[in-house]
Parts: sequence; structure tokens; C-alpha cells
Amino acid sequence: MIVGLVEHDGGVVSEPSLQMLTLGRRLAERLGEPLAALVIGSEARPVVDGLAAYGVETVHHAVDDRLDRYAPDAWAACVVDLMGTAGPTAVLAAGTDRGNEVMAHVGARTGLPVGANCTEVQPGDPFLVTRLRWGGSLLEDARLHGEVKLLTVAPHSIQAEEGPAAGGWSVEEFSPALQDTDFRVQVARQEGRPAGKVSLPEARVVVGGGRGVGSPEGFGPLEELAELLGGVVGCSRVVTSLGWRPHTDQVGQTGVRIAPDIYIACGISGAIQHMVGAKGAKRILVINTDRQAPILTHADYAIIGDVQQVVPALVSAIREGKGL
Ligand SMILES: Cc1cc2nc3c(=O)[nH]c(=O)nc-3n(C[C@H](O)[C@H](O)[C@H](O)COP(=O)(O)OP(=O)(O)OC[C@H]3O[C@@H](n4cnc5c(N)ncnc54)[C@H](O)[C@@H]3O)c2cc1C
Repeated sequence: MIVGLVEHDGGVVSEPSLQMLTLGRRLAERLGEPLAALVIGSEARPVVDGLAAYGVETVHHAVDDRLDRYAPDAWAACVVDLMGTAGPTAVLAAGTDRGNEVMAHVGARTGLPVGANCTEVQPGDPFLVTRLRWGGSLLEDARLHGEVKLLTVAPHSIQAEEGPAAGGWSVEEFSPALQDTDFRVQVARQEGRPAGKVSLPEARVVVGGGRGVGSPEGFGPLEELAELLGGVVGCSRVVTSLGWRPHTDQVGQTGVRIAPDIYIACGISGAIQHMVGAKGAKRILVINTDRQAPILTHADYAIIGDVQQVVPALVSAIREGKGL
């Protein structure tokens, strides 16, 4: 059995988890084993039914009142508990902050190695995996040993695809053995997104701003452009360091990884630490005064010009086109 630990936000499965299940299903098919999912906490209830479309045969649902707020060690305890009863060949999670954190705890609890941020997996003993290192600038081929193979799947390295429905379908609730010490680290409070606003990692359009935007107020036209295109605003680390935008908006190695259909990068130079976070973008439109800026080497389209003039011009052209 292959088990995939599924993350969700407010009852919606995260895209990286669906990508992980897609890789998990392919792995399960090659091994001739069933694919199972593990979901945690009562908030996971709405996601259970949708997992069948990804080839999941059994959903193991860990239930305990204390699990409603994310606690990495407690989640790891749920995984280890399930490993004890289900005896899987491999346990997969998405290579998100949470997925990697939980699997690191699972590795520590079981003494098993963890292959983080894998992009390809060849079953066998050991598993042969290719994984992202150094923020995505290096691909490493590695051998993954261990009685149970523990690994995470690099977000956006494969496309999430529904698959043939599994032969059977069942949901099995279980109460994991949890200690109070498993909750020493737990989410205390979560800042809600404004209703109807998509998150940065899931946005189809991201309008990013860098130092070239000039000031916090300079982000006004970028917000407007993002809203017209149904997207959200992101930024570089210089911008968060200057206090112009919150850290939650930062794209990059020490920020969020995005995978939009188009990334509109305004006044951003394209430092490697920034581009690591924008690697998943399908198209990049650069707006920059400097035609030698490194980001131009990643651009599908470029407008050489001042962001203060170009973005308002784009906004009015789109408004006009939409008859607004
Ligand atoms: C360990 C580490 C981790 C890091 N993590 C991150 C990370 O997660 N995310 C991140 O972004 N960075 C990260 N950085 C910082 C990164 O190295 C760069 O310093 C940063 O990305 C640069 O931000 P920027 O492009 O906004 O600024 P700059 O490099 O100063 O570039 C500004 C750009 O704006 C253009 N410009 C100026 N005026 C205008 C104008 N009026 N109109 C149009 N264009 C204009 C300029 O030509 C230039 O290309 C990290 C660095 C380290 C060492």
C-alpha cells in the first residue's frame, strides 16, 4: 500500500497534495498496490469524497478534537500510528512547508530516512529518486532506503491528474494514540484571507513587485492590475525587508513558491533566490527599465519601461477592453 498524507485548507485539498497523489497513484500502479490517503482532523471531512477521483481506494481519517489545529508532531504521530496498522510500502506527502515538516518528524520518530522534494520516483529496494536541492537549482539522483520509504513530492514538479477510480472505496476513521507533548507546537491563530481572494501559491495570475515599484503606495496600480486579471500581488524580499508588504507576499527561496499561468514581474531584477519561487510560472512578463536585468533571461515577454507608467497604462487598456 502507498499512503499519501493529504493537506487541505478550509476543506479544499491543496494542489500540491493532488500532485503528490498523482505521483503516488503512478507508483502504486507500478507496484501493483492500492493507493490510500491519510487526512487529519474534523475539518478534513469535506475533502474525503473528492479523493476517489485520484485513484484513492481507502481514506484513513485521523480523528481527535485536538487535531483541528495543525500540530506537526501530532500529525507525525498520526502517520506513525497508521504505519503501524496499515504496513505501507511508502508514505508520501507534498513537499510543502507542512509536508516536509511532518515527514521530518516521522523520520525522527521512526529512525527512517526521508527523501524530501522528489520529482521522480523509481520503485525497488532502494527506491531511486530524483529530488530538488538548493532551492531548485540542482537535481540530485539519490537512493532511498528504509523498510518503509518516506518521501515528499516537490510542489508543481508534476501536474495533478485524476485517474481511473479504484476498485473499491472506503473511509476508515481511527483515533491515533496522542500524547499532550505532541501538541507542544500547534497553530494558535490563523489569519484569514479576505473572502473570495485566492492564495499566492494557487493564483493563476501573480503580479509581482520589486524595489523598482518605488514605495508601498506604488503597489496600488499593481493591486488594480491583479484584481482586473483575477490574480494576486506578490513581491521580492527587498520589498518585505523595506516593510512595504507583509512577508506572506514574498515570492522566493525564503518566501512562497508560485505556479501561475502568468507571472507579471514589475521592477524585479531576477535574483536566483527570487526566481526559485517563480520557477513554476508557465509564462513570465517582465516590466523593467533595465534591458540587461537578469530576469530578462527568464522572460517570455518584456516591456522595457518604467513600472509607474507601464502598469497604469495596462490597467486603463484592460478597463477599456472590458468596458469598465
Ligand atoms: C539567503 C537568501 C535568501 C533570499 N530569499 C529571497 C526570496 O525568497 N525572495 C526574493 O525576492 N529575494 C530573496 N533574496 C534576496 C535576493 O538576493 C535579491 O536581493 C532580491 O530578490 C532583489 O529584489 P528586487 O529585485 O526587488 O531588487 P533589486 O535587485 O534592487 O532590483 C530592482 C529592479 O527594479 C528595476 N527598476 C528600478 N526602477 C524601476 C522602474 N521605475 N520601473 C521598472 N523597473 C525598475 C531595476 O532595473 C532592477 O532590475 C534572498 C537572498 C538571500 C541571500
